[in-house]
Amino acid sequence: MTRMHPRCGPIRQACACLAALALAWAMPVATQAQAPAAAVAASAASERVLRVGDGRLRVIVENPLDPARADQLHAWLAECVRAQLSAFGRFPLREATVRVRLVPRRGRDPSPVPWGQTVREDGVSVLLFVRDDAGSEELRADWTAVHELSHLFHPYLGDAGRWLAEGLASYYQNVLRARIGLLDGEEAWRRLDGGFRRGRDAGAGPRMDEIGWRRGATMRIYWAGAAFWLDADLALRRERGRSLDQVLAAYSQCCLREDSRTTPEAFIAALDRAGGGGTIARAYARHAAMTGFPSLQADYAALGIDTDGEQLTFSPDPAKARLRAAIMGPRAAVAVAVRSSAVDGDDD
Ligand SMILES: [Zn+2]
Repeated sequence: MTRMHPRCGPIRQACACLAALALAWAMPVATQAQAPAAAVAASAASERVLRVGDGRLRVIVENPLDPARADQLHAWLAECVRAQLSAFGRFPLREATVRVRLVPRRGRDPSPVPWGQTVREDGVSVLLFVRDDAGSEELRADWTAVHELSHLFHPYLGDAGRWLAEGLASYYQNVLRARIGLLDGEEAWRRLDGGFRRGRDAGAGPRMDEIGWRRGATMRIYWAGAAFWLDADLALRRERGRSLDQVLAAYSQCCLREDSRTTPEAFIAALDRAGGGGTIARAYARHAAMTGFPSLQADYAALGIDTDGEQLTFSPDPAKARLRAAIMGPRAAVAVAVRSSAVDGDDD
């Protein structure tokens, strides 16, 4: 499978700003067509290797216009990686690669990252198409990179698990950015809630475990999926005294490899063995059978979040505020060793 499209296949997790799906479809062709010109203007690819413990993430800016632009993009990616590390302080995989490819603005699409995807073949790579004139603040405000990095927490789950995969990335794109200050915590709840509303507005359809890649169901797949993970995270905290972060940390250590692929049910069972203790399977059984958007009333009550149309209000009740902060609150920075592979070589 070489096409890049959300429907394309067993090894790719393709995501894009949904307003840009039409663009995403056209992007590889356009990129190829413009590659010769870009190659003339660009300086050499710029690669850095980020290390945390025995985990290693290569970040490659494929076609920066000059070294200063490469530095700027590396700084942006380093911040997105900090967000990823706020889950449990390590990379989920021992080895992974992020590739940034600069592409010209197409039409009037304003998105600074019009396309991102996670490719699982010969290792795991996150590929990000970045608009060549996108500024730092636009990039920092965009969710795509943290969304894609969040796909590294789970194995490949096939079409049947797409709602779990996209749901986890959609949940964490807000949670992880809030933890490192890329989003204000209350704004992160608002964004999650906005997603839930879009998912609810998509109406009813097939059961979640039968929804696959169904056309027209994208909002439900992403945001009913995110609702599942919020529900599971809260159930873990309530019933097991641990967080989704902790369960994913244990899962990454015992079970997640670069070539991991499994079924949704086997993934859920493995998470329960990694600390979920049955909590996640119970939430999964409930959500997998749903044909409409899940009610979040009990979760919102526990979090002290009230909705009034599009407005959210947050309860000052200390226990509820603590629960919200446990999910979205700031995290201490994790030490990351950075090496430029051009200088240090790639000898290990
Ligand atoms: Zn995704």
